[in-house]
Amino acid sequence: MRITDEREEELAELAEYIANVYCPDDVISPKIIADNQGISHCYGVYDDYFDGMLEHYNGRFHIDLNLLRLNTQDATRSRFTFSHELGHFFIDEHRLALEEGRVDPHSSLVDIYSYDSNLAEYEANHFASNLLMPKSRCMKVLGTIGKGMNDIIKLSNTFETSLVSSAIRYIKLDPIPGILIK
Ligand SMILES: [Zn+2]
Repeated sequence: MRITDEREEELAELAEYIANVYCPDDVISPKIIADNQGISHCYGVYDDYFDGMLEHYNGRFHIDLNLLRLNTQDATRSRFTFSHELGHFFIDEHRLALEEGRVDPHSSLVDIYSYDSNLAEYEANHFASNLLMPKSRCMKVLGTIGKGMNDIIKLSNTFETSLVSSAIRYIKLDPIPGILIK
């Protein structure tokens, strides 16, 4: 199942708005955003089945981040996962479902394969991508698009994102059809 272009645009605008409010400089800090929203978080070594998890308990939200899979707190994968969990908080439908107990806290895996397997995961990944690499900042950094791998490396270096997530972001930015082969 895929989301509509309108929904993608709506989530991208939401993510960019959050980025501009809390992190006006180029490198987005998911921690600053979480702290400002009163969302606690912790890094720990857990079982191998999730990267991150957003939980709701007694009216409060908490994010668990699994260093077994993320390696270090500053790793690009950690930053993306943290942003993905923030997506589950900022996207109203996801947050309300958790608050109202309609869904259990779900474990997130942010690898590419989850893009097509679960709509909520796709939406949270899309939010994370746009939070860490807002469109207007990408365009400012790149100027014009068209340098392929050089552009992707530039995005990765500027926004402290992985080459894979930067490549996916780049494909979405480019009005010309493209294909990403890993
Ligand atoms: Zn998720």
